[in-house]
Amino acid sequence: MSADPQALVLVQDVGLERPDDTNGPSTEYDDAEGDLLSRLAGRPGYKVPVKERAIGLSDGPASVAVGRRSLLGSSPPDATMAASRVALAPAGPGVGTRRRDSRRGAPTSEGWPSAGCWFECVTFHPDSELLGANHTESLAMTILALWRRLERATRPVHPVTRRVLAERWADLPAGVRTEEQILGRHAVGCEGTHGVFPKCNLTCTPCYHSKDANKVRVDGGHTVAQVEAQMGLLEDRRGPRAHAQLIGGEVSLLDPEDHAAALTTMRAHGREPMSMTHGDFDAGYLRALALDGTGKPRFGRLSFAAHFDSLMRGRTGIPRPRSEVELNPFRSRFVEMFHELRRDHGVRFYLAHNMTVTPGNLDQVAEVVDEVSSMGYSMLSFQPAAHIGDDRRWKGDYRTVGIDDVWNRLESGLGQRVAWEALQFGDPRCNRTAFGVRVEDRWVPLLDPDCTDDLDIRDRGLAHFGGVNFGGTPPTLLAVKLVRVLVRHPGDVKVALGWVRRLVRRSGGVRRLVLAWRGGRFTPMTYVVHNFMDAADVAPAWQLTQEGRVADDPAVRATQERLSACVYAMAHPETGELVPACVQHSVLDPMENQELRRLLPLTVVC
Ligand code: SF4
Repeated sequence: MSADPQALVLVQDVGLERPDDTNGPSTEYDDAEGDLLSRLAGRPGYKVPVKERAIGLSDGPASVAVGRRSLLGSSPPDATMAASRVALAPAGPGVGTRRRDSRRGAPTSEGWPSAGCWFECVTFHPDSELLGANHTESLAMTILALWRRLERATRPVHPVTRRVLAERWADLPAGVRTEEQILGRHAVGCEGTHGVFPKCNLTCTPCYHSKDANKVRVDGGHTVAQVEAQMGLLEDRRGPRAHAQLIGGEVSLLDPEDHAAALTTMRAHGREPMSMTHGDFDAGYLRALALDGTGKPRFGRLSFAAHFDSLMRGRTGIPRPRSEVELNPFRSRFVEMFHELRRDHGVRFYLAHNMTVTPGNLDQVAEVVDEVSSMGYSMLSFQPAAHIGDDRRWKGDYRTVGIDDVWNRLESGLGQRVAWEALQFGDPRCNRTAFGVRVEDRWVPLLDPDCTDDLDIRDRGLAHFGGVNFGGTPPTLLAVKLVRVLVRHPGDVKVALGWVRRLVRRSGGVRRLVLAWRGGRFTPMTYVVHNFMDAADVAPAWQLTQEGRVADDPAVRATQERLSACVYAMAHPETGELVPACVQHSVLDPMENQELRRLLPLTVVC
């Protein structure tokens, strides 16, 4: 294609929607960009209503450049170059040719650079009514475009999310496609990084990292580049929103600037990041992460999962804990740091508490649940130990501790049933999750599996609201989205009010709720057990899955089923694969860390 600058045309986003509507419009420009684009258009007096327009070049079958916040942060010459180079990109046949490059200034495979942004080239037919639209048409189209943008922006579920959910549901083993299943109906699953900073400075028994992990240098540049690549693949494959863990080694060994850059990168890909840590860092590190060089918060909210248990060695102040209870001051101090950060700088937080459970500390779970539940964490997650990772760190037989063993201790710690059966995340042999709130010293489930009215609202919720991004949507926009759902399902209002009434009653009544709220004793609280599998079971099961075969051996087949219902994915941009975390740790980590050891040696020889 030869591009003619005089043929530069203004194209409204109505002409750019792809047939499957999976990508949505990408025509948001700020004023500076709008000015630049106006000048690029080369039409004196031609008003470019910024925020509503994309530009394109046409010489027959047109190639249209579409940017998403694309030129922000780039200088006009860069942007000009990028735009003109995009224009020179060859146009393919039909609609939907797509080019993408999110690397700042990096050449794409076609040889044209981006300007720290991504572009799409969409080809469309030359007789498009949008080309050469006059001013009257332009006004009508502006209104139409505005309306369509509003409609798209307030769609309850992003079209890509809807498609990914349907695909996930279809791929699930029949045994987990149950009424209580969340995966594929509301959530695509969690995500995690790997190989981004393998090193850790504590020692645990067991340790899920491979033998070579501590021989890999922590390198912020490598971390951010890998996070970018992995999150990019996850966004492409799993849609625009998900929760993702910044995990791999010990996150606080990253320089705070690199840590912040990694979180920012994850957010840029629509991921809600959670940093996984052993919790052995001080308030200075937290502030350096949360605040920029001028002392202003870089983030409105931070999420951390802190791992505390007596199987860990080397923690500052308590290098060899003899019991779980000895760690309570450290658990509490960790939360306190975040309270101080919020008090001084307004940075909100979400904290999870993780604990590995072996035969050695199983009987201390109840005490941990009793004492840690009121510390300020919003989630308590327990992981029965598995034989994964560094076999030098395995102590005894971990197979004797299962999900039920841990859950029984959890319930005895709270002195009540912790009902989880109303909702299931993936395979019940892998996960057990109970969503609820803590009111004073009592945990109240959001859904009671024995209450048919609660099950009714669950079913309506998954059917009508499944896929709505509750956590990552601004409140006003979320309200509009919810109203759109309720307009289609008005009967849900009455059912929802009934649920609120039951929740208040279970919580002890309005007065108790209000008092608890005022006293800061009304908090969300989720209890989780995540049951990783042994490497010896995962390796043969994964091998068969890769070969497209199903095992005859029931135990291996069960492992295959669990892997195919996995809720915790890790991305491999080099192959385009997404793998379950069990596979990553059991099969892929050892080789990956050997390579990283060569790539990032501890001692750099100049
Ligand atoms: S397959 Fe492994 S990583 Fe995935 S949900 Fe099950 S236990 Fe978790």
